[in-house]
Amino acid sequence: MSAADDGIDPHLTFTVATVWRENRISCPHPDVLQSWLQGGLPGGAADFVQFHLKDSQCPYCNAVVEDLRAREDLAKTPALEDLRDRLLRSTVAALRRTRA
Ligand SMILES: [Zn+2]
Repeated sequence: MSAADDGIDPHLTFTVATVWRENRISCPHPDVLQSWLQGGLPGGAADFVQFHLKDSQCPYCNAVVEDLRAREDLAKTPALEDLRDRLLRSTVAALRRTRA
């Protein structure tokens, strides 16, 4: 009976994830994330940010984007479209939570 018998090395997995997160490899600068939010990035850069946030699901950059979005929402005067947008977003979030 040994822990090595299951063929998985949890320590190695943990190390790779930790190194990646601690060094935040290839994370765009928050300024870049803000430009992306405002639609001010050229195609290639926008694709990279999109990939980093959606496919890599970088927890740091997603948190930064959430924060920037929240600030923009506060700065804006609420319009009907914003409200609809927010409702839609919370519905999507609720659906995701149900599926998870
Ligand atoms: Zn990142």
